[in-house]
Amino acid sequence: MSSTDASTADAPRPVVVAIDGPAGSGKSSVSRAAARALGYDFLDTGAGYRALAWRSLDLGIELEDADAVRAVLGGFRYDVEPGADGARVHVEGREVTEEIREPRVSGVVSLVARVPEVREALNVQFRRLIRETPRPGIVVEGRDITTVVAPDAQVRILLTADEEVRIARRAKELSPEQAATARQLSERDRQDAGVVDFLTAAEGVTTVDSTELDFDETVQAVVELVRRAAQKD
Ligand code: C5P
Repeated sequence: MSSTDASTADAPRPVVVAIDGPAGSGKSSVSRAAARALGYDFLDTGAGYRALAWRSLDLGIELEDADAVRAVLGGFRYDVEPGADGARVHVEGREVTEEIREPRVSGVVSLVARVPEVREALNVQFRRLIRETPRPGIVVEGRDITTVVAPDAQVRILLTADEEVRIARRAKELSPEQAATARQLSERDRQDAGVVDFLTAAEGVTTVDSTELDFDETVQAVVELVRRAAQKD
């Protein structure tokens, strides 16, 4: 075996914490805070779908046309770079971190996410980003992480909350303009639910129900599951 082979074989595999759940479950902020508490990296897979939707809009692609979306995939690559206030997302050498959060992207992202070839291609990129993390572990957040992207993750969590609580949490935090965005979110959840089931825990996945928990308690519950899994190894 060459020295390169040996060092690859010896490189410790990062601990992967897979977290799925619907919008409004606090998934993104909880995952980010848990990653910080653990000293782990954080991967928001929704940003990959958003980056592709942004690229398709930029090229003037008709997003209802799955063949046209498939054509964008050839050569599409996005990169995430750590930044002081969260990861920065780049597509084709351009930074699109803020643009991919705009309503014009949120409103169409489900259209690209429903194309099977898009999911396969992005999953390859997500697995690359997981493998390449310089940290001892990575929290990966999305809708099919526990089932498709990283089914062999050491920790697999479905983060849920009762629908009334999710709506109330959003309403409390939102201005009227943001409330319109929240309605768009619910609609997106409905569309996405037809593509991947992110409301039912698959076998071996632990459900963390945040209905009765505040933010810190939810982060703590996730961190606790990771620490317990580490003790078992
Ligand atoms: O998490 P976020 O709301 O940024 O995700 C944007 C969109 O990306 C979702 O509405 C969904 O269509 C898609 N997505 C997905 N699978 C994932 C993550 C996101 O289909 N693992």
